[in-house]
Amino acid sequence: MAGKSFNPFEMAQAQFDKVADLINLDSGIRELLRVPLREYHFSIPVHMDDGTVKVFRGFRVQHNDARGPGKGGIRFHPQETIDTVRALATWMTWKCAVVEIPLGGSKGGVICDPHNLSLKEQEQICRGWVRQMAKNVGPINDVPAPDVMTNAQHMLWMLDEFEAIQGSKYPGFITGKPVGMGGSLGRTEATGYGLIYTLREALKVNHINVKNTTASVQGFGNVAQYAIRLYTEMGGRVTCVSCWDQADQTAYSYRKSDGIDIDVLLQITDRFGGIQKDKAKDLGYEQLPGENWLSQEVDILMPCALENQVTADNAGMINKKVKIIAEGANGPTTPDADLILENKKIYVIPDFLANAGGVTCSYFEQVQSNMNFFWVKEEVLSRLDEKMTAAFTAVNDLASKRNLYMRDAAYVIAISRVAQACKDRGWV
Ligand code: NAD
Repeated sequence: MAGKSFNPFEMAQAQFDKVADLINLDSGIRELLRVPLREYHFSIPVHMDDGTVKVFRGFRVQHNDARGPGKGGIRFHPQETIDTVRALATWMTWKCAVVEIPLGGSKGGVICDPHNLSLKEQEQICRGWVRQMAKNVGPINDVPAPDVMTNAQHMLWMLDEFEAIQGSKYPGFITGKPVGMGGSLGRTEATGYGLIYTLREALKVNHINVKNTTASVQGFGNVAQYAIRLYTEMGGRVTCVSCWDQADQTAYSYRKSDGIDIDVLLQITDRFGGIQKDKAKDLGYEQLPGENWLSQEVDILMPCALENQVTADNAGMINKKVKIIAEGANGPTTPDADLILENKKIYVIPDFLANAGGVTCSYFEQVQSNMNFFWVKEEVLSRLDEKMTAAFTAVNDLASKRNLYMRDAAYVIAISRVAQACKDRGWV
């Protein structure tokens, strides 16, 4: 989560303001898009296992739904703040718009720590969240999904509560369900694969052969693991990965110059994406400080862990050889670091484009659930590739035509589409 001085919503607004100026956005629409349309703040009482009642704070922020029903995850985190939820909801609006899926941006959360809650207590939080929100979410107005520390089980409890309240089956109410219970094949791979589809296209336009490239990756969780797998299959070589070490409460980087072996590393990785350091050292991996993933002599950097990682303080560490940064995480680069990357002429595939594979596949899950007809994995992944490639091409074309930084080009496209939808509806 964010550090004390880092406010993700201020960062989301700073990014928006920059592009609003660039495209001379009218003051009315600017005011509308700068803040969420709607916010729900509520209490969820839970009968704890020890007989007491504890009240948890829950949120849902619906940033903008001019282009379609809201879409966005629900995060359980002890340091959850309304500003984190606002920022993530705002980024969801731009993400759905840039990949041209007919959805708006939402996000939800509950201030709680699932590490210290029994499954029964977590189930009550899920059902309580839906009871508070049932009138204002649903398959045709706002579709939740998992996020940090929520998973397919939480989604099923939420679906069950929603269907009990409505008295009908609504498999399209929520995504991230298990395969066989309304989930989509390919969802697990979608964000990591989507990142590499955009990287493949970025390499093409920069006339770089993937087989001659090396990469360093921050994080070794869902996004990073599938990104590394596909990039390696395409002929690239990952020489460094980093992850959080729960025991030492710090991050480490693990380097192997002849290339990491994803299958071997996965055998010594826990479900939170933490690599066992002693076993890694036995396997010949060099253990380095956490931040060193950023200073590696590689062609490509992939921040795939969390926000606020490439900052004005550490962007100077980036090696001269680095040509491309593909952002798997949400908000890994701060606006002041962007200025440094732009000066270094590093080609950035911005987060809300690069990691949009997840929401695109969630949209496919929603479509399949509403039809109650499920596609084979190849169909899901080929549709995903098509969407990601088309979105990348549109952003890259605009960036070259107007000589824009890639993040700004992606924002110009996304903000213009949402602004147009608001105007067409007669809102502004
Ligand atoms: P995850 O929990 O599966 O993995 C996170 C990884 O980051 C773990 O390996 C963890 O050890 C590592 N990590 C945590 N703190 C770190 C630190 N300080 N330094 C180095 N490594 C650290 O999470 P994920 O699903 O892979 O998501 C990663 C990022 O991608 C997040 O920003 C998330 O919001 C974003 N994202 C995920 C999806 C998705 O579908 N999973 C979609 C869009 C965006």
